[in-house]
Amino acid sequence: MSKADGPSKTMTYEKLLAQATDRLIMAGVTDAQLDAWYLLEDTFGISRADYFLKKRECPELIPGCWEDRLKLRCDRMPLAYVLGYTEFMGLRFHVEPGVLVPRQDTETLVEWVLKAEGELNVGSTTNLSLLDMCTGSGCIGLSLAKLGGYSVTLSDLSPRAIHVSRINRGGLDLEEQVEICHGDLFEALPEGKRFDVIVSNPPYIETAVIEDLQEEVRDHEPRMALDGMEDGLFFYRKLAKEAPQWLTPGGRIYLEIGYDQGESVPALLQAAGFVDVTVKKDLAGNDRVVRGVYPHV
Ligand code: GLN
Repeated sequence: MSKADGPSKTMTYEKLLAQATDRLIMAGVTDAQLDAWYLLEDTFGISRADYFLKKRECPELIPGCWEDRLKLRCDRMPLAYVLGYTEFMGLRFHVEPGVLVPRQDTETLVEWVLKAEGELNVGSTTNLSLLDMCTGSGCIGLSLAKLGGYSVTLSDLSPRAIHVSRINRGGLDLEEQVEICHGDLFEALPEGKRFDVIVSNPPYIETAVIEDLQEEVRDHEPRMALDGMEDGLFFYRKLAKEAPQWLTPGGRIYLEIGYDQGESVPALLQAAGFVDVTVKKDLAGNDRVVRGVYPHV
């Protein structure tokens, strides 16, 4: 294939897709065919229907970025970084290297909050206040602001996360409803503030396990967003200890956890005084989210 920007006389959409798929397979990409399709769709601005109508036609232009993007994906950069966006809860989030790519598993947390808090507050006009700690791209807190109507505070230590979550707050038109704080865990928050709900998907991978992760994650996603220190529980200990001071009486906490943390994290919450501690599984059947209530004291 020519790397040039000019028209190609022989390169049809169908051939472009087939060649991209082959190269991604050779590079060891899982779901190579699907990724090749997403790259083609986005780079050429071609819908699925257009593709089937025009697949034997030659594109007028092969943009220079087609080859660049394919190379990045063959180097195992996550598709979301290559494209610059991903979908989460049906909403589009800007992503770039330096923030964790939003995962479908994390939708389990968002769905649980929407359901449980909706049931708790049926008919109520109170506007719940919610904190998303370690917000990264902002995917959890911003989708809850958008879909649940809550007043949301996002917090993160990473300057890149602050930058990206600001872009996403603007993209979702949530400037009025969402404030963003930059700092280490609770240190960044306005003193005296209280939240009805705290949510977090903190770094929770054991340091030693990081080297065994998929190349996309190990070599491209930020360590800071993954590393839960020696036993993976570092941030849960801090959250369990400090969250109660930031919750309104009867406030709720929802934490994403690793598949093997369905006993350790609930135990930490219970030891810190949380009650009604329950665990929810993700669509794959793994323990994924823990919820606890901090009683009136
Ligand atoms: N809250 C973000 C997410 O769920 C980032 C989490 C993190 O950086 N550990 O994608």
